[in-house]
Amino acid sequence: MTSTASKLTAWQKALVQAITDPQELLNSLELDSDWLEAAKSAANVFPLNVPRGFVARMQKGNAHDPLLRQILPLGDELQIVAGYSEDPLQEAKYNPVPGLLHKYQGRVLLTLVGTCAVNCRYCFRRHFPYTDNNPGTEGWERALNYIANHPSIHEVILSGGDPLVANDKTLQAFSDKLNLIPHIKRLRIHSRIPIVLPERITPEFIHWISQLKQKPILVTHCNHPQEINAAVAEAAHLLTKAGVVLLNQTVLLKGVNDAAETLIALSESLFAIGIQPYYLHLLDKVQGAAHFDVDKETAVKLHEELSQNLSGYLVPKLVYEQPGAPAKKPVELYTV
Ligand SMILES: *Cc1c(COP(=O)(O)O)cnc(C)c1O
Ligand code: SF4
Repeated sequence: MTSTASKLTAWQKALVQAITDPQELLNSLELDSDWLEAAKSAANVFPLNVPRGFVARMQKGNAHDPLLRQILPLGDELQIVAGYSEDPLQEAKYNPVPGLLHKYQGRVLLTLVGTCAVNCRYCFRRHFPYTDNNPGTEGWERALNYIANHPSIHEVILSGGDPLVANDKTLQAFSDKLNLIPHIKRLRIHSRIPIVLPERITPEFIHWISQLKQKPILVTHCNHPQEINAAVAEAAHLLTKAGVVLLNQTVLLKGVNDAAETLIALSESLFAIGIQPYYLHLLDKVQGAAHFDVDKETAVKLHEELSQNLSGYLVPKLVYEQPGAPAKKPVELYTV
């Protein structure tokens, strides 16, 4: 190990020691190498990247494990499917300065870093030009100026990449600047890290988030109850104790969570550790993810089953993104 590497904290080591080699992933899960050639080709388009602690929650020998399905590159991704695109949300249009998306009234979405702790195969950002659109510390100046010049913005949303890939010093430097803008009342973080790399929620991080001038909200991204283990529960507990409002968003994914009993168990398990279900998203139609799509009729039926079996506050809103719409749209059968 180099001297820089030895200075990494435990979570940063876990981040760099993630599995990126399809062969190693298959070996560690005792899966035969039938999957290997396709995995390698698909990983050339969008790399494999998964923390070991997340792999440990997968069932050995099960090629259809719901956690594995989310991260294993498959040949299906290479099919070009009509109706799917590389920028399904047409985000380029709402990008006034690099790293900033201003699509909805009152809130902006800001990219702090271009990378994630895990590469989710269904991600709508799988073709996003992160490297061109990663503001970097110097770029913050322009994004923060934009925010300062728009008093109608009350909430800043740090999103992905995964903002918690940034180290605590970077987060502190950012929040020091954000604190100078009085009209920002809430700081929301969208992150998959409390689920896939819960050791990131360190005492230092808790210290940072509990000192914010803005009300902190953390929206986790959990798709299956099997993702929740004791370490995730502990991270959620520390965050709740620090006064952070915890919400969760889920993407509805064929072969992962498209069964009512799975989604019911997910809501129950999230709430048990202090996380409120918020959104259940239909898949964004990104090229390479068509095999995950659940059609609207099935989605509405599943959602009705959730409503019939859960307390109202445990039922996430079923939504999708329509480019140009002023908010995420509820899924209704009569919408196109
Ligand atoms: C999803 C999203 C938001 C947040 O929307 P909420 O409905 O408030 O959760 C904000 N900006 C962009 C660009 C988004 O995609
Ligand atoms: S963590 Fe979020 S932004 Fe990153 S690859 Fe997964 S879904 Fe996409």
